[in-house]
Amino acid sequence: MSLSDENNLAHFLHRYRHHCGYCAAQGEDHEPHEITKCSRLFNKPIFFQWKRGLIYPHGTSLRACWFCHIPTTTSLHPQFSVVGMCPLKDVVVPMMYAILTNDVLRERAQARFPQMPSLPNATNWLVQDSGNGFSNMVMACMWFGDNFS
Ligand SMILES: [Zn+2]
Ligand SMILES: [Zn+2]
Repeated sequence: MSLSDENNLAHFLHRYRHHCGYCAAQGEDHEPHEITKCSRLFNKPIFFQWKRGLIYPHGTSLRACWFCHIPTTTSLHPQFSVVGMCPLKDVVVPMMYAILTNDVLRERAQARFPQMPSLPNATNWLVQDSGNGFSNMVMACMWFGDNFS
């Protein structure tokens, strides 16, 4: 993990930590909220199903938080003691889902990440190490947040 990756992550988290990534990606986060209170994701049980399918391959070098998918190897990931209470949990995964399920957003992201799947259920690429200790999913969201939302 390089210094610039850490800096990008710090910037990303500073900007989005209290936001629902799903609405933020679509420019609809005027009223920051948790995803469990998101009126747009609320009726999408398929999102919660999809999230459960984000499973890191056996033997992966990634050390991602089970809730927010930010690498726990960075000091930027908060310490938390209560199960399910990672304060960053609403950012990366909902943002990735918004990108994959919106044709306009996905095409923008695929111009930068050609290997990004077109179908949300193709999760393999998302949970691979992009080569720096960050998953492709985290890299894609950091890039997207910088450039579009
Ligand atoms: Zn929302
Ligand atoms: Zn976390």
